[in-house]
Amino acid sequence: MAAHNNSRVVLVTGAARGIGKGIALRLAADGHDVAVNDIDANSDQLKAVADEITGLGRRSAVAVADVADPDAVQHMVDTVATELGRLDVMIANAGIAQVKPLLEVTPEEFDELMSINLRGVYLCYNAAAKQMIEQGGGGKIIGAASIVGYRPFPLLAHYSASKWAVRGLTQAAAMEWAQYGITVNAYCPGIVGTAMWDHIDEKLAEHEGLRKGAAIDKYSELIHLGRVSVPEDVASFVSYLASSDSDYMTGQSVMIDGGIQFS
Ligand code: NAD
Repeated sequence: MAAHNNSRVVLVTGAARGIGKGIALRLAADGHDVAVNDIDANSDQLKAVADEITGLGRRSAVAVADVADPDAVQHMVDTVATELGRLDVMIANAGIAQVKPLLEVTPEEFDELMSINLRGVYLCYNAAAKQMIEQGGGGKIIGAASIVGYRPFPLLAHYSASKWAVRGLTQAAAMEWAQYGITVNAYCPGIVGTAMWDHIDEKLAEHEGLRKGAAIDKYSELIHLGRVSVPEDVASFVSYLASSDSDYMTGQSVMIDGGIQFS
């Protein structure tokens, strides 16, 4: 168990796989009770993650919900508060990527991506903050941004815009909710070897006329630390954000990218 934790009740969205799963398992190993969310299509994987959490000796709850749906998000937070007694840490991790030139992005695709990556984060931030205020204040809200929320990357224009907006929302929410003792911060991963990055890699390779896997090799060369990251690299920073060690930190969006340099 990490040194810097009091046990808290945590909710992680998009936790059936990838970074969200890595965060959920790390926070359970830290000694927190961890509720997990994902969409219905991934509910079997989600239940397996909840089983891993209980296997670590912590309590868990499964809250299937589409984070773009306001009623579903409210129900998710209510479920966690009922089953685990309260909500201390919200991690709005769920997100999707669409990989194409901006000129080819349709308004429908743009709206779909924003509904999950931005509206979903706003809905999770708000529902969590209301619950935390009702509990008497205090709490930690953490969102998923990205290094492409700081600078553009090929074929990710509207994704990039969504992550740029998450940084803005994080800073503004931090300002508004400091009065309730709630801190709000975001993590900005670089390249993390998950299903999302596999999809980006495949589309980039197609677009640049490269073999699959070549894009990841090309971009890996731009990483100072010489390797693509794994969910655990991001989870260890989120562990800090969820702990009392980060109590004086708010409104920040921090890059965990191995020092990648592009554009
Ligand atoms: P992933 O695709 O492997 O996992 C994302 C999870 O979110 C999936 O289980 C998916 O079902 C879930 N999800 C999608 N839409 C949802 C919805 N509407 N409601 C609830 N759950 C939903 O992706 P990942 O790589 O683990 O990414 C996690 C977060 O980190 C995302 O916000 C992503 O944008 C961000 N990120 C990823 C990378 C990377 O390189 N992989 C880099 C920077 C930022």
